[in-house]
Amino acid sequence: MRRLTITVDHQRCVGNAQCLNLAPGVFRHNDAVQSEVFDPTGAPEAVILKAARFCPTSAIRVVDATTGDVLFP
Ligand code: SF4
Repeated sequence: MRRLTITVDHQRCVGNAQCLNLAPGVFRHNDAVQSEVFDPTGAPEAVILKAARFCPTSAIRVVDATTGDVLFP
């Protein structure tokens, strides 16, 4: 499994927990009830990309940590 860099834009995240529901091993809420990544290896890549696609505000960005290729958006 390739290493991913996953980031959540807190200017966009509205905290609806969609990504937490899809990938609870990767995302959790912080004290401001916004999503944060606590384990980028906590779900298969396909699940992480699905969580990114389903985010209603496009707050999640996924990058190949080795090559820098942007996988989403
Ligand atoms: S799905 Fe998007 S808006 Fe909802 S908690 Fe996750 S990052 Fe935030």
